[in-house]
Amino acid sequence: MSLLLENIKESHPYLYSAFSSVEQGQLHLDHICELDQYWSVLKKPVRKVIFPAADLPAEANIVGDYDLIYAGGTLSFLHAGVMSGKYGHNVLVVDRHEPAKSTRDWNISRNELLNLSATGLFTENEIDSVIGRRYRGGWVAFYKPDGSQKKLFMENVLDCAVDADRLLGMAKEKVLATPGSKVLAGTSFVCCYQFSDHIIVKVSDRSGSVFYYKTRVLVDVMGILSPIAMQLNEGVPQTHVCPTVGTTSSGFDDVDFDTGEILVSTGPADTASGRGRQLIWEGFPASGSQYITYLFFYDEVDSPNDKSLLGLFETYFRILPDYKKPGKDFVIHRPVYGIIPAYFHDGFNRTREIADDHIILFGDAASLGSPLTFCGFGSMVRNLPHLTADLDRAIRENSLSKANLEKISAYEPNVASMANLMKYMCYNSATDEPNFVNDLMNEVMIVLDDLPPRYRQAMFRDEMKIEELMSIMLRVAWRYPRVLRATFEKLGFPGSIGFVKNLAGWAFSLLR
Ligand SMILES: Cc1cc2nc3c(=O)[nH]c(=O)nc-3n(C[C@H](O)[C@H](O)[C@H](O)COP(=O)(O)OP(=O)(O)OC[C@H]3O[C@@H](n4cnc5c(N)ncnc54)[C@H](O)[C@@H]3O)c2cc1C
Repeated sequence: MSLLLENIKESHPYLYSAFSSVEQGQLHLDHICELDQYWSVLKKPVRKVIFPAADLPAEANIVGDYDLIYAGGTLSFLHAGVMSGKYGHNVLVVDRHEPAKSTRDWNISRNELLNLSATGLFTENEIDSVIGRRYRGGWVAFYKPDGSQKKLFMENVLDCAVDADRLLGMAKEKVLATPGSKVLAGTSFVCCYQFSDHIIVKVSDRSGSVFYYKTRVLVDVMGILSPIAMQLNEGVPQTHVCPTVGTTSSGFDDVDFDTGEILVSTGPADTASGRGRQLIWEGFPASGSQYITYLFFYDEVDSPNDKSLLGLFETYFRILPDYKKPGKDFVIHRPVYGIIPAYFHDGFNRTREIADDHIILFGDAASLGSPLTFCGFGSMVRNLPHLTADLDRAIRENSLSKANLEKISAYEPNVASMANLMKYMCYNSATDEPNFVNDLMNEVMIVLDDLPPRYRQAMFRDEMKIEELMSIMLRVAWRYPRVLRATFEKLGFPGSIGFVKNLAGWAFSLLR
């Protein structure tokens, strides 16, 4: 369902004007509308895409046989590059659009990025070649009306801007260099049929022609729109979301190219519609004169707010000058956008479904990252060594049942516990003062500022230890007792118990 740029002239004038001057503006609008379908899909009955073997049509003609088929061609390339290049599996990667092209860029620290060379996927030189810019450090600050906000500085956190398309392009080349491996553009996953020792995957190309492929493992990396995640999780693949939009641009009047702005709010919650939302900015220097700005907010997946990327982009272009002033040479190089997923595990361990017989989910389809600072890219980079080694072993040992595959996951008990903190950042006008999120986060920044730098680094790199988180939480509660009432209002009784279960699961995981 296509929406023409011309048709949003009246309804989204700021977006219309900006996208009219952007290269491939209409294509980006199409992608945004495609991602926004997520909201209507959630309301529809769950579409079945995993079928038993008996349902495979008799006329199905199998045109290829692969060890692994990846449905989705973004983060998948990091995994597929190792599975083919290091472990020698033949892989097929299909993407409904252009494989190895992302609608976003990534930030990370260099040390974390070096995990990619630990798997043998890239050399250190190759890794350095995808870093568009490295800067000194970054800061976080949440709005206070009287200007008293704490500006928390940190180093070695998200201080490298990664050219996502270059990184993915390099990984794609590694896949294609492996004999027998293949990448198909414009090819959509349709459904699959589970046999006892393999799976048949049905795909369709842009002309609507369908093809059937055989594989030992179907890897679902279709992101937030994954129909497999939707089916396995009975229509609730995410509990929370973080709609995010922005641009890579040049020509701002007032940007600092040596420092990243990791989280910045410039006003109280926007209460114009729905339950309200606390808008947050990020600003990162990129290569040359380019600068990336993002606008986002945290929310419950089923809140009454408008969470569409279309609506958020209109807000972004309208209020961008409040954050960074476009100068007379301002140029938008490309828009960046997506719905960052989050899942609250109501238990001591992972509760989200991330596998089935001969099927495994990675990346945003698995939704095991934290949306707080790092998201799916950071999670994949951290976990890639074991996500590849364990899947290789499972294939060699033919242990490809759901029970075995779901053990191969990027679930991290500390990340699951930390992700609970995003609930405090979901603004609700029924219970919160307009500056509640900022006031609370400002107290967290004051507490972190009093603690040694490793606390802030651990928090913003998803590497927190349980005793560090407890210490921060107790100090915040001492300084800002309002957080105790907010815990009950925002998490509710089940959510509060769930948070405790997550913490207990984290503590127990350290004993194992
Ligand atoms: C603006 C923005 C900035 C971000 N910055 C960071 C960051 O700095 N650090 C970080 O760690 N994370 C960041 N993230 C999160 C990160 O981008 C995601 O976690 C990551 O892109 C997830 O990759 P994925 O491959 O799982 O899903 P996606 O990137 O969503 O890719 C899914 C792919 O599947 C394809 N697809 C979908 N359906 C089908 C189908 N039926 N058949 C075939 N193909 C299909 C799509 O075309 C797409 O190519 C950011 C996110 C956004 C939105």
